[in-house]
Amino acid sequence: MLTEQFLAHSILISSLFFMLGIFIAFQVVFNSLKKILILKQIHFNEYTLRSILGIIYILVLLFSMQVSISNRQSIWAFVNFQLIAVIFYAVILSVPTKYHLFIPIVLVFMVFNSAITNWKSWCAALVLIIFYKSLNYIKTHIKDIFPFWSYLLTSVFFGAIYWFFMKLKFSFSYQVLFQQIGYLIVLELFTFGYMAVQFADLESRTALFQDATHDRLTKAYNYDAFDIDFRSLFKLHKQSNIDITMMMFDIDYFKKVNDTYGHLAGDKILQHVVEIVQDVINNNDKRIKLYRTGGEEFNILFPDYHLKDTKKIVNAIFEAISDSQTKFNGTNIHLSISVGVSEIDPEDGSTNDFYSRVDKALYHSKRHGRGEITVV
Ligand code: GH3
Ligand code: MG
Ligand code: MG
Repeated sequence: MLTEQFLAHSILISSLFFMLGIFIAFQVVFNSLKKILILKQIHFNEYTLRSILGIIYILVLLFSMQVSISNRQSIWAFVNFQLIAVIFYAVILSVPTKYHLFIPIVLVFMVFNSAITNWKSWCAALVLIIFYKSLNYIKTHIKDIFPFWSYLLTSVFFGAIYWFFMKLKFSFSYQVLFQQIGYLIVLELFTFGYMAVQFADLESRTALFQDATHDRLTKAYNYDAFDIDFRSLFKLHKQSNIDITMMMFDIDYFKKVNDTYGHLAGDKILQHVVEIVQDVINNNDKRIKLYRTGGEEFNILFPDYHLKDTKKIVNAIFEAISDSQTKFNGTNIHLSISVGVSEIDPEDGSTNDFYSRVDKALYHSKRHGRGEITVV
C-alpha cells in the first residue's frame, strides 16, 4: 500500500515534468520550423502551421504513450494526459471546431483501445467532445486575455465526469477515483498556470512590438517600421526579383492649417487622413502598408505590385482625401495631398536610388501647384 501510494505520487510528479517538457518541446519544434520556412522564404500562415503541427504532435504522443503503457498507475496518468491534450488543442492551438474531424480520430482511438463496443467508452468520448467545445466557447466568448478560472472550473468539471465513466469501465474503487481526480486538478492547475504566464508574456511582447513599430498619434506604422520593411523588400527584390511600388505623399499647406485652426486641429487631421487611407487599403489588399515617415509625410509600400496595378488604388487614396473633410470645433477643414509614385528598377543599386526617385516625383507635384500625382 505504501509503495503504491509512493508510486502514484511519483507518477504525478513525473507527469508534471513530462507535460512541461511536452509544452516546451512543442514550442522549440514550432519555432525551428518557422525559422526554416522563413529562411527558405516559404510563405505560411502561423496559425495554420501551429494547428497542423500540434495535431500531429499530440496524436503521435498519445499513440506512442498508449503503446508503451506498462502498469496500472501509468494507465491512469495516461487518462489524465488525454484530458490535458484536449486542453492543449482547444486553448493553445487554433484548431477550428470542425466536428467531423473528431469522428475518425475517436474511431481510430477506440479501435486501438478495443473499446468500440463499450458504451462507457462512447460516453467518455462524448464527454471529451463536449469538453473541447466548452473550452472553445470560453476562448471565443470571454474577452479576458486568459480566462484562467473559467478554463480551470470547466476542466475540473468535465475531468470529473470523464473519470466517472473510467470508473464504470474499469471498476476501480472510489478511493482511486478521488485520488485521480485530485491528481488531475493538480495537473490542470499547473497547465493553466503555465499557459497564463505564457499568454501574459506574449501580451507584453506584442504591446512592446506595437509601440516600437507604430506611430503614437495616428497608429500608422512609423519610420522604423518603414526602414525595416523597405530594406527587406529591397533585398527580396534583389534575390527573387519581386516588384515593389512606392507611393509617397505630403499634406499640402499643413503649416497653414496649424496656424489657422491650431495644433490640435492638425493632430485630428493627421489621424483622420490615416483612417481614410487605411480604409482604402483594407478594401483593396491588406499586404499594402501605410507608414507615417515624417510629420505630415507618409509612405505606402505595395509589395509584389507593378506600377500599373497600383494606379487604381493610388487614385482611390488621392480622391478619398480630396473629397474628405475633417470637422473641428464646428468648422469643416478640407485638404489636398501631393503624391509621388514609382516602381523599383533593376538598375537601382540601393534603397536610396529608389527612394529619391519617388521623392523627386513628390517634389515635382509640389512645384506644379500641389494637389496632384506624379508617376515616374
Ligand atoms: P507644403 O504644401 O509645401 O507641404 O507645405 P506645408 O505647410 O505642408 O509644409 P511644411 O513642411 O512647411 O510644414 C509642415 C508642418 O507640419 C509643420 C509642422 O508644424 C506640421 N506638423 C508636423 N508634425 C505635426 C504633428 O504631429 N501635429 C501637427 N498638428 N502638426 C504637425
Ligand atoms: Mg506639407
Ligand atoms: Mg512635409
